[in-house]
Amino acid sequence: TMPLKKLHAAILCSPGVGHLVPVLLLGRRLVTHHNLRVTILAVTTTITPTAQSQLLTPLTADIHLPVIQIPAADISSVVSPDAKVVTNICVMMRETIPTIRNTISSMDPLPDVLVGDIFSTESWVIADELRMPKYVFVTGNAWFTGLLTYSPVLDKEVIGQYVDQTEPFEIPGCKPVRPVEVVDPMLDRDDEDYRVYLELTVGVTLADGMLINTWEKLEPQSLDALRYNEILHSVIKNKPVYTVGPITKNFKPVGLKSQVIEWLDKQPERSVIYVSFGSGGTISAEQITELAWGLEMSQQRFVWVVRPPAGHVKDGSFFKFGHSGDPNGEYDYLPEGFVNRTQKMGLVVPSWASQVEILNHASVGGFLTHCGWNSTLESISSGVPMIAWALYAEQRMNATMLTEELKVALRPEVLSRKKVVAREEVEKMVRGLMEGEEGKAMTENVKRLKEDAEEAMNENGSSYISTCKFIEDCWSRIQRSI
Ligand code: UDP
Repeated sequence: TMPLKKLHAAILCSPGVGHLVPVLLLGRRLVTHHNLRVTILAVTTTITPTAQSQLLTPLTADIHLPVIQIPAADISSVVSPDAKVVTNICVMMRETIPTIRNTISSMDPLPDVLVGDIFSTESWVIADELRMPKYVFVTGNAWFTGLLTYSPVLDKEVIGQYVDQTEPFEIPGCKPVRPVEVVDPMLDRDDEDYRVYLELTVGVTLADGMLINTWEKLEPQSLDALRYNEILHSVIKNKPVYTVGPITKNFKPVGLKSQVIEWLDKQPERSVIYVSFGSGGTISAEQITELAWGLEMSQQRFVWVVRPPAGHVKDGSFFKFGHSGDPNGEYDYLPEGFVNRTQKMGLVVPSWASQVEILNHASVGGFLTHCGWNSTLESISSGVPMIAWALYAEQRMNATMLTEELKVALRPEVLSRKKVVAREEVEKMVRGLMEGEEGKAMTENVKRLKEDAEEAMNENGSSYISTCKFIEDCWSRIQRSI
């Protein structure tokens, strides 16, 4: 029998668009499809009006989904200026715990359950104090979850730097991970970021259960391993694993058409490649030049969301909300004359675009992406094949999965000597995807994945059912703790 009271979930989210988007969407989904009461607790650094109107409002305005913004603690005196992303976010989340605690305990009604992204695990203590069950929401995929949770074991087994190993890492029951494809904080074991990452992986396994933004048919092997492989399942302390994805935005065109959409309206079907490196991805000045020339040489239509180069930092604005960019469209970092020469073929957009709307446009037939998991899911859900241009975090694994396993993406060769993708390679990839036979095959493959994804999210689809099971699990843990 179902309890009469609505289950109230608080979903805690660390700073960063790549986490806030799926957290909002999960909250939305739980409200609209599973009759929950949900409060989003978004720890934020700076939130710009653009982010507010482009991210929060469209996802929360038409339903009851309150978003409480919790200003992140100032950590400038706690972390060193050259601390990397994981350290920054984890320390920020830890230092913000007092505010998070106050916020949660003054909520009326109090939440019954706490859900947090992987950077939120320090807040499990609050759930424990309030005797609430706690679940981690992994906004990446199941294969990544395998590596993440198995990392403490690898830490004991592997001697020397991960990247110097010659053999791939065996993750029990999952596909092995190549040394060069480990997640960013594993690239240098001597860095503080690695230590913080290891602590985080332990926090993840202490949750009462896991929600992953994936679906059964996409990753049967890794999901099976997390649930039934003796070693891996015991690493996650025999906790249940639920699939809730792909949770992606349903775009509803409202109001005036943007300049990009108006331009796309005039282009032939599936003729445009959309180029974007996510919310925070940046590439070097040299790489921008090569990419620009490659696009021009390919003679394919494109929409390119550009950002000024940022030296060697590939995740330049990852956990910030300000899309610091080039609002004036000066583009002095693009090759001279590029914008003029490509006027008829392409559109250059500064900093930020409404990605889901673009990917769903009939004129778009390819996506050159940094392989952030949200972007990946959005591309699949729009039936658009990709060029897998991984930059940071777990994106190299995502790229491998897309190219080698799912066969929905081409992967450019990086000149290891210069660490750039040369213009000829860009040209070849873009042509291959947009007019080659391989591009056609990938379009067919991705359309099949899109159908699978829809099926999983339908009423009585696998992700729908898994989400119902998660809710039942919440209730049974709540009743046991009373
Ligand atoms: N996004 C967008 N417009 C942009 C860049 C990003 O709407 O110009 C959205 C994108 O649709 C996705 C999210 O921001 O939902 C980025 O998440 P992802 O996991 O792809 O990458 P991250 O930014 O975390 O590296």
